[in-house]
Amino acid sequence: MEANKPTILVIEDEIGIQNFVSHILNSNGYHVVCAATGKEARIAYLSSCPDLILLDLGLPDLDGMVLIHEFKGWSPAPIIVVSARESEAEKVAALNAGADDYICKPFGISEFAARVHATLRSRGVLSPKGGEEQIMQTKDLVLDLDSYMVLKDGKEIHFTQKEFKCLALLMKNAGKVLTYDFILRNVWGPYSGTDNQILRVHMANIRKKLEEDPVKPKYIYTELGIGYRMLTD
Ligand code: CA
Repeated sequence: MEANKPTILVIEDEIGIQNFVSHILNSNGYHVVCAATGKEARIAYLSSCPDLILLDLGLPDLDGMVLIHEFKGWSPAPIIVVSARESEAEKVAALNAGADDYICKPFGISEFAARVHATLRSRGVLSPKGGEEQIMQTKDLVLDLDSYMVLKDGKEIHFTQKEFKCLALLMKNAGKVLTYDFILRNVWGPYSGTDNQILRVHMANIRKKLEEDPVKPKYIYTELGIGYRMLTD
């Protein structure tokens, strides 16, 4: 797994453009996942948890606008529309629906790469200082989003990818109660069908690795029947 590379989901039904875009993105250091239909896009989203979505509006099974509305309801990933539709009304509609940028086909390679980079940077996925802003700290716990590393009191603790994402979400929202639903949506996605029980198992594993005494948690507190909270004091 290439943990350091941002993942980009390319939703595009024309194979020629899909290959072209993938090639540009690969050579710019991104990990690329492709989908040719709306249905494929939903599945690809769940398996890849992308940092950015590139979306063609003219898809065979549905209008790309539908996906913007869907993804924006719960996904933190920014969306760049890449479309042949040039009218201002369509651009405005896509941006109003929550798209972060709009690139018209045909487009130049360097402009395309620059806009992808700018969008990722504005979301903190790419940091101008090489990842310094990707580090979070709560008590003696340090989490580095760039390298997928967690240190407790200076010692590395290994987490699975899902455990890491749960922990990162809790640390990012330290002090706040996060509901089961919020964590499930953010880590597994809304179509996953994952239930509270799977989340509980993951949280139990995280605790086993973190807490010296799981009965008296120092880091993660259970809000019974509601969710979890990262303790800040
Ligand atoms: Ca198309």
